[in-house]
Amino acid sequence: MDADVLVVGGGPTGLMLANQLGRRGIRATIVDRHSGPAQQTRAMAVQARTLEIYSRLGIAERALELGRRGTGANMWSEGKWAARIPLGDIGKSISPFPFVLMLGQDDNERIMGEHLRNWGMAVQWNTELTGLRQEPGHVSATLKQPDGSSREVQAAYVAGCDGGHSAVRELCGITFPGAAYEHVFFVADTEATGPMVAEELNVYLWREGFHLFFPMRGKDRWRVIGILPKKLQGRDDVTFEELSPDIRREAGANLVFKECSWFSIYHIHHRAAEKFRDRRCFLLGDAAHVHSPAGGQGMNTGLQDAYNLGWKLALVVKGHADAALLDSYEAERIPVARRLLATTDRAFMLVVSDTWLAGIFRTRILARIVAFVMTFERPKQFAFRTVSQTGIAYRESPLSKMLPGLPKGAPRAGDRFPWLRLKFQASGPVEDLFQKLDDTRYNLIVIGQPAPPGEAPGLGDLLSTHVIPDDAHNAQELARVRIPGPAFYLLRPDGHVGLAGTRLEPDAVTRYLSDGGIRTAGSLHRASIARMKSASRLPASSG
Ligand SMILES: Cc1cc2nc3c(=O)[nH]c(=O)nc-3n(C[C@H](O)[C@H](O)[C@H](O)COP(=O)(O)OP(=O)(O)OC[C@H]3O[C@@H](n4cnc5c(N)ncnc54)[C@H](O)[C@@H]3O)c2cc1C
Repeated sequence: MDADVLVVGGGPTGLMLANQLGRRGIRATIVDRHSGPAQQTRAMAVQARTLEIYSRLGIAERALELGRRGTGANMWSEGKWAARIPLGDIGKSISPFPFVLMLGQDDNERIMGEHLRNWGMAVQWNTELTGLRQEPGHVSATLKQPDGSSREVQAAYVAGCDGGHSAVRELCGITFPGAAYEHVFFVADTEATGPMVAEELNVYLWREGFHLFFPMRGKDRWRVIGILPKKLQGRDDVTFEELSPDIRREAGANLVFKECSWFSIYHIHHRAAEKFRDRRCFLLGDAAHVHSPAGGQGMNTGLQDAYNLGWKLALVVKGHADAALLDSYEAERIPVARRLLATTDRAFMLVVSDTWLAGIFRTRILARIVAFVMTFERPKQFAFRTVSQTGIAYRESPLSKMLPGLPKGAPRAGDRFPWLRLKFQASGPVEDLFQKLDDTRYNLIVIGQPAPPGEAPGLGDLLSTHVIPDDAHNAQELARVRIPGPAFYLLRPDGHVGLAGTRLEPDAVTRYLSDGGIRTAGSLHRASIARMKSASRLPASSG
């Protein structure tokens, strides 16, 4: 076998997956048909859940250094300022990163690409996947190499992180139903001065559509995106100079574009693959789902796909779990993609619709409604959980098991376990729970009771246990997220709750893990005894 996992595509999704595998000691090969990292910014928004994952990977500080925190969004109607939505610390009780970070996709890719060196890995550029053959114990992949020759490699698994035109998806014969939006979009990286509120997102709504100004790194740098005016549609050779008078007409005469370093027009599709897996091949990121950029979800969703699959592949490749664990990737991520497609589609139609009524709604009503609703705490929190992806849950997953007893409102199996600041020793300091969790293992959080003796043995490196002592601060923090005592939560490596209940019975954790296909020392021992017993029943001639 040449590699445990062949990662096809060195975009954000492939880089995240390769990092997650590398840090878990898995031999992954990552290839990309381009000659080097993408130079265009494309996605701009890094959501809180992605920053939480970056933090565990050790790259959050670098991202925060390079990016800009989105402190607010300004809504403009027909050139007039209408409202400001404060975004600064909208999710301050939900995540250690209670904001959206403006950081271009190219910077994200550079940070993750450089981080690969820590695991002795690097993207093999100019290397294109051209063929796939699924064999009983592996996949044979044909790679076109930089000199034009082809070579065949064998990998236990193949991860298709190869974008909207995925070769992995096509070679597996997986369909990609959906359609293209009729509108043509533009994106421009500019140097500009004008009425825009500096350092903040500026949303310009007008009768015929919208455009957005995102602040970028550097003085007066703005990413502008929007819909191409009708008169310019149907042509592939539109220039920014032809478009800019229209933007100026809407955003005000004071707007001056000094430079445009990148301009592109493109069609947006909304599609989801009919399945995310064919035997030993997986689809992640844009290879699995593409949708409108409304809400800045595209890149982030690919990164979450990779975080979901990474730990599962690592456990299976290392022999710590049955291959059945991999079924949960599709079961968990397909519903997320479908929901995302539906919500971004609805939001998108609202801002692009050409009808007279939609134009009135956009310019007269939308900004005011949004600004009013966002003065209330609950809708603010709901909006943050949705956009930041911290609200994604896998409650219907085969890996989610809820024992009776926990009250309504307490975190459920499948939820991302809430971010808490707790004392881990009665007289110790208050610490950030997320910094204590080891995301290369399962984490058992035991509340209001001692850890049962004998639970950890047999689980070796698979489990870390955290006993939360009784303490006034802890009681208050746990009450905030409606966790009563006694309670226990077994978190999967990705921080989602696998098993939850009140009193921790002996063997509960081991039983949950074995039922989910995780090979604990106990189950390995039982399996080897079973194998020995069945071998002793075989006739001598069977060898
Ligand atoms: C113009 C534009 C603007 C966008 N703006 C936003 C935005 O504002 N917000 C947002 O969230 N999203 C945005 N997106 C979407 C976002 O860029 C994608 O969601 C994101 O790039 C997905 O990452 P990925 O790694 O899954 O795929 P990609 O970034 O497409 O990476 C796939 C990689 O696979 C490689 N590859 C393809 N085929 C092969 C093969 N056969 N062999 C080897 N390698 C192969 C490609 O070279 C590429 O490097 C935008 C996209 C575009 C095009």
